[in-house]
Amino acid sequence: MMRMSQILQKTKWAALSNAEIMKAVEEKQLAFYAIEQALAPDYDRAIEIRRDIVKKNWCPSSKPSHPLDAVPFQNYNWEKVVGQSCENIIGYVPIPVGVAGPLLLDGNRVSIPMATTEGALIASTHRGASAINSSGGCKTSVLKEGMTRAPVVEVSSLEEAAALTKFCEENFAVLKAAFESTTRFGKLNSIKTAVAGRKVYLRFTAFTGDAMGMNMITKGCDKALETLKEHFPSIRVLALSGNYCTDKKPSAINWIEGRGKTVIAEAVIKSDVVLKTLKCSVDDIVSLNVDKNLIGSAMAGSVGGFNAHAANVVAAVYIALGQDPAQVVESATCITTMNKVGEDLLISVTMPSIEVGAVGGGTGLTSQRALLECINCGGANEAEPGANARQVARVVAGAVLCGELSLMAGLAAGHLLSAHMNLNRKPQQ
Ligand code: ADP
Repeated sequence: MMRMSQILQKTKWAALSNAEIMKAVEEKQLAFYAIEQALAPDYDRAIEIRRDIVKKNWCPSSKPSHPLDAVPFQNYNWEKVVGQSCENIIGYVPIPVGVAGPLLLDGNRVSIPMATTEGALIASTHRGASAINSSGGCKTSVLKEGMTRAPVVEVSSLEEAAALTKFCEENFAVLKAAFESTTRFGKLNSIKTAVAGRKVYLRFTAFTGDAMGMNMITKGCDKALETLKEHFPSIRVLALSGNYCTDKKPSAINWIEGRGKTVIAEAVIKSDVVLKTLKCSVDDIVSLNVDKNLIGSAMAGSVGGFNAHAANVVAAVYIALGQDPAQVVESATCITTMNKVGEDLLISVTMPSIEVGAVGGGTGLTSQRALLECINCGGANEAEPGANARQVARVVAGAVLCGELSLMAGLAAGHLLSAHMNLNRKPQQ
């Protein structure tokens, strides 16, 4: 409930002119970050005033029109943004969105929305989808599911570190009950511990329904730690995230254990489709996959980078569908495998850490939500919580499969082309 003083305060700000509000911000009577709050629900006006402050004080321009004028701010549903997704708002950056497909994925046609500024990326993914469709489509499997968060706690002795680890194993049900008391959807799957000196890292893994799950799991961990402290009063929680999670940073643990959804997508591409649509041979693309995606990446000391350009596709799909783009770091880890099966090409992408949701975060913004609806994953799945988020993950893996197939074929065809050129240019014997 809003208190009377707040209502009066709000009325006061709304009654002032833009110049007066600007002055109030400049004189620190109104906080720079609180203009939306003061003028709610007139967010366009609040944002316009902040832009004027920035134009005047932060980056004055001598040009007749200020560069910021080219950044749009009107006709945007700020209601879904303010207090949730962005602070100190000055507008939005329009990013082109295209679509690849539809891809025949697990027997259904799905479109692949991609927001990108990289020319040829969508065309290439589209070509991959077309080759996959001509061969009967692709299938996917979600092998594992579980968002992770790993607090770090300090113990007072090595004995206590060992006792804490043992407690987590033997009293998992107690910690699970505490964790799950904070959420309708979260289900704690496991706690994996790692000890370094007197610091203990507790990697909680939980099912988080249709949410990507970071908020949900953080709340659950906090409660489980409270319970843990009742049994180990001397432990000190150093941070709710101790980087053993690992969120938005490269790590071997995500590559090996998975984070979010662990998904495999595969397709068998007929040899004539490889030749006609992809313009290379099965032998060439299989061989290049070994040399580039396996040996090349091994030589580079890669962790999870055994692919051609998974991150390109993951980033574009994530931006279109309101996922957290910083999680592309681990979500795009992928090993692409290719084998000759009979005369045909078997291609697969194995992606251990696809972190996606259909609710929460940026998925509720108007355009992102609309694109999620285009793939039938808009919001919570009431009948089967988690099914929509899993489907988003399948679409991501399917899209990466298309991207891998097309780029690898392009490179293999390039090899052929240069080989042909060399042959053609060889002086006649
Ligand atoms: P995240 O944990 O991904 O950061 P949030 O916790 O911010 O996401 O948003 C998820 C919200 O959506 C929670 O409040 C949760 O209770 C609600 N919710 C509604 N339906 C579902 C569902 N099917 N799966 C997961 N969360 C759901």
